[in-house]
Amino acid sequence: MDSKLLDILACPVCKGPLSQNTDKTELWCRVDGLAYPIRDGIPVMLESEARALDADERLDT
Ligand SMILES: [Zn+2]
Repeated sequence: MDSKLLDILACPVCKGPLSQNTDKTELWCRVDGLAYPIRDGIPVMLESEARALDADERLDT
């Protein structure tokens, strides 16, 4: 995904910055512990579509 696009995306819950996971399949908000899916290259910025990060993922940097 375009890093510029990543720069302008913000978590819909806390409005904070997001980070892409290593597989580039999700955008993570560690503040909320949520992972937003990227489907066909398009981030789905909906809290209802996000999954909860597990403890290891929250700590991973
Ligand atoms: Zn957030």
